[in-house]
Amino acid sequence: MECSHKNILLKKVKKEIFDMSFEAKTSVCSDCGAYLRDNKYEQKYMHWLKGIYQERRDKFQTQCHFSKNLIKCAQTYLEGYPGISPTVFMRALVTIYFSVVDSDKKKSALLESLLNSEIYDSFNNDKNRKKVNIQFKPKMMIELIAVSEFLELSPSAIVEEVVIKLMTVITSQDKRLREFWENEIRGYLDMFLKTA
Ligand SMILES: [Zn+2]
Repeated sequence: MECSHKNILLKKVKKEIFDMSFEAKTSVCSDCGAYLRDNKYEQKYMHWLKGIYQERRDKFQTQCHFSKNLIKCAQTYLEGYPGISPTVFMRALVTIYFSVVDSDKKKSALLESLLNSEIYDSFNNDKNRKKVNIQFKPKMMIELIAVSEFLELSPSAIVEEVVIKLMTVITSQDKRLREFWENEIRGYLDMFLKTA
């Protein structure tokens, strides 16, 4: 039987993230032990994260390795966006992927079915790589950590996969992938890069 969380106590709970620990009081069910994180707790957590974001930017970075060819393709694409660096562009791709594609089952299934494996594989298997550090905002980093815990992959591995997927879409000549790009990604990307 599912617990209805009737016996609630205010308790101090600990959360480990970025090799640091956050402690705050929140409602805890004394029957099943569930943490019922209330708004106050979430606010404190975000406040704490933003503090760390100010002092330890490095904790919100993913260290990725990308095919030099992929980076070149990104630079070519960015000729239409003066002043935007490949790392800012990659951050935009990852953020848009999670808010637009991954959260929509139909869109993510469509993208998977269209991905041109030849281009994808060439980016993925290229041994000629360069290290790229991508900086994320606290909210996106929390999402990445959640996804990485779920998939049992590192946040960097997830970022690499997403960037390779979307760079495959960008560089493909396939008509349906071009349409996917124009209809689902392009508008968000332009918006994102304008405010970057
Ligand atoms: Zn309970």
